Amino acid sequence: MTLDENWFSEPHMDMAFSLRIKGKLHEEQTPFQKIEIYDTVGFGKLMVIDGCVMLTDRDNFIYHEMMSHPVLFAHPNPRNVLIIGGGDCGTLREVLKHDCVQHATQVDIDERVTRLSEQYFPRLCESNGDPRARLLFDDGIAHVKNAEAGSIDVIIIDSTDPVGPAEGLFSTAFYRDCLRALGSDGLLVQQSESPLLHTDSIIRPMHDSLRQAGFLDVLTLHFPQASYPSGWWTASIAAKDATVNFHREEAAEELPFDTDYYNAAIQRAAAATPEFFRRKLFA
Ligand code: SAM
Repeated sequence: MTLDENWFSEPHMDMAFSLRIKGKLHEEQTPFQKIEIYDTVGFGKLMVIDGCVMLTDRDNFIYHEMMSHPVLFAHPNPRNVLIIGGGDCGTLREVLKHDCVQHATQVDIDERVTRLSEQYFPRLCESNGDPRARLLFDDGIAHVKNAEAGSIDVIIIDSTDPVGPAEGLFSTAFYRDCLRALGSDGLLVQQSESPLLHTDSIIRPMHDSLRQAGFLDVLTLHFPQASYPSGWWTASIAAKDATVNFHREEAAEELPFDTDYYNAAIQRAAAATPEFFRRKLFA
């Protein structure tokens, strides 16, 4: 079957992911990237940055819940949370479900991502007015460099792929600055792409760079994500001064808020390591 103009397609390596669309709702080139919004037939609204799917109405809950809840339940007492990227505000909304979080700062380089999310994905932005939330528009690399040492409990790096403005967010120098900004028990989590496609090119180098920067332990969590290349995605958690543990497992068992994907059993299952992945990372 040949796809016509009624489809959006994201080619990646030797495959492509496509969604049937009703039409394009918006397109703009910001100083940082090209943003497009589509209305799709089966996945609701779709945001695309530089040709790559960022999120759809239908499946963003999995990504946003897996970027936030596992790391927050792995920390003994997360009060100060920093989100780098995440301009669609879906991760921020999940973080603010945790009553123990006192401050959640989101630093996205591109204010237009947030403004368009407010317009086209209002549910993701419904907690932006929470008094604990602070939305800044700045380069996450500079923000972390200038952060007070030991001031942050959890850093969540919810970025685009490691090209363009996000490239430096995958570097040893950036991870060193994150390590310095984290307090004791500090944890970092970063979206780490597809295990099927990017283990050699991104995930293994990320583990190496995090350890070179001084993080003591790194654990990669796996989850399905239909709209990202290969449909299988990861988030990697790095611990400043301990092993990555499920510290607040009991609290997660009694989940005090609603989720659509995350629960304690999902967190345990997501930490299981497939054989090819274990060989490539630890052999
Ligand atoms: N879930 C998405 C994915 O993996 O495809 C990421 C979503 S979120 C929209 C990614 C955000 O990272 C974008 O809004 C982009 O502006 C932001 N970003 C990229 N580089 C950045 C940087 N150096 N500092 C802060 N934000 C950055």
